[in-house]
Order: sequence, then C-alpha cells, then structure tokens
Amino acid sequence: MALASGVLCVLGGLKNVDHRVEYQLALLPNWIIVEHQTNRLNQLTNPTRIKTMKIYCDYHLHTHCSSDSQEPMAAMCQAALQRGLQEICFTDHVDWVAWDPTREYFKPGDYIAEIEQCRARFGGPLTIRAGLEVGEPPLVAADLTALLAAWPFDFVLGSAHWTNHQEANLSRLYEHHSPEQVERDYLLCVLEVARHGDLDSLGHLDLIRRYRPLTLGPFDPLAYADIIRAILHAIVQREKAIEINTSPLRKGLTTTCPDWTILQWYRELGGQKLTLGSDAHRAEDVGAGLEIAMDMARAAGFTRLVTFKQRQPLWVNL
Ligand SMILES: [Zn+2]
Ligand SMILES: [Zn+2]
Repeated sequence: MALASGVLCVLGGLKNVDHRVEYQLALLPNWIIVEHQTNRLNQLTNPTRIKTMKIYCDYHLHTHCSSDSQEPMAAMCQAALQRGLQEICFTDHVDWVAWDPTREYFKPGDYIAEIEQCRARFGGPLTIRAGLEVGEPPLVAADLTALLAAWPFDFVLGSAHWTNHQEANLSRLYEHHSPEQVERDYLLCVLEVARHGDLDSLGHLDLIRRYRPLTLGPFDPLAYADIIRAILHAIVQREKAIEINTSPLRKGLTTTCPDWTILQWYRELGGQKLTLGSDAHRAEDVGAGLEIAMDMARAAGFTRLVTFKQRQPLWVNL
C-alpha cells in the first residue's frame, strides 16, 4: 500500500469487538475509517489508498512467566491462531536490576520447557520463537551473557523500564520531578540501552509517553529530538531493530510507541529493521493494533519486517 507521505496520525484509539479491530486513520487531508479483518472497508474518501492486511507476527508477548501476567502460553498460542498469525515470539520479562522487586521471578528452564510444549502442540501452523524482554540490558550484561549462552533464545528485546531515579517506577516519577526532567532522564536510559545493550530490537522507545499525565498534553518528541535521534543513530549503526509497540492504543492514547514522527526519523537515518509487538499480557490482546503498526510502517516507506531465529534476522515482506 503506498500511502502518501505527510502527516499520518492514529486517532480514536482501538476498539476490539470479536477480534475485529476498528480504528481511524487520519491521512491528512483525507479521512479514512477502516475496519480490518472483516473484508469490509468504510471509506469516506480515496478508496484506492487502503486495503485490508493480514497480521503475520507478534513479537512482544507476555505470559505467566512474567510477574505481571497470568496467561498460560497455550492460551496465547490459541489466540494467535484464531487471529490468523503465523508467527509469535514470547518475550517474558527478565528484569534483573538490583532494585527491581520482580528480579527473582524469571525461571529460564521452566520457560523454555513450556515453549517446547507449545511448539509440540501448535508448531505446525504457528512458528513459536523463544524471546526475552530484558530490562536495562547494559546494567545486567554479565548475567545476560550467561543466560543467552545457556539457553536457546531466538530474540532479545531490550527495554528501559526505569530511569536513574531508582526510587520510583515510571508511573510515579511525574509526581516528584518536572516533565522535562522525567522524559529526558528516561530517554537517556533508552540511549544507554540502544548504545550498549545486548539486544536484537529496542522495545517501546518512547514508553514514557504512556506515563505522562493527560493534563500535561501529549508527549512531544520534537522537544527531545537530540536524544531520540541519537538513540536511532545508535540502533542504525549497530544494525539492530526498533519495535513498534501498540500497547498505548489500549491505554487510552492515540499513538504507538514510538510514534509516527520518530518512525520517520528512523527511516531518514537509514533504519531498516522493524519488529512489531502488541505487548499483550492477556490472550485477548494478542495481535492487537498491529494493523495500525503495519500501516504506519508502510506509510513511512518500510517494505519489510524483521523476525528472528537463533538471534539471526529473517525478513518478511510487509
Ligand atoms: Zn516493556
Ligand atoms: Zn513488555
């Protein structure tokens, strides 16, 4: 799909109805309302610009192997198959920084064993990759190296979940610090991850937008263009990927992490590798919003996604 370049923003959030996903894309100056996965398009204008698309993969999924999910892996696999996905990657949390209260939670042996059970049960129609979402990978580098050497992981999503204000998780920071300080501090931590983390893809680059109080108005990447472009530059130089994470669409926000502006900067700087992730912690959210991420990627000029096997990138056409 060749969308015109220009301003694209996702409006109206996401509404899940029986696995249908409805959303609005505003492609200025034309407005298009799309209902995906039902082969029905409600087009107000310009019907040649849009088509339905199938979601191929979801590379950010949590299960009961993460402290913040209770979902069995099998339920996530069943949901993926129901939604027509061909490939998923589990990315349960490895949060090992000393101040993280969940740092003891992850058990790699149990995790890999359950993935193997799912592969035996669902592995015909569904490719199931073993991934991790590692929080603050530069700060746990030695332990992470040992983990990756000991177990057969396919994919590492590197994320920042804290700032240098270790006394508070992200949701509390705005109570004690100025928005500028919170956001700059968070993005500097992301920069560390991008420059030094052992990762395949950078998770939810501007996650901090999810925690910004609504009363402050939307997060503005232009205010931090210097740091964000440095993050993207590091990823491009290291030939890593960034993730388009759709979880903000389920949290009342109207954009993904990162947003359209950052995605365009990534492309301008030579970025090629993109992974897509719902960040689902429940089966009902598997694949949620990924049509939007695919639309955004295409509109920004990307023609391929990247998946991983044994930490080697494999390209998939968008
Ligand atoms: Zn995360
Ligand atoms: Zn996650």
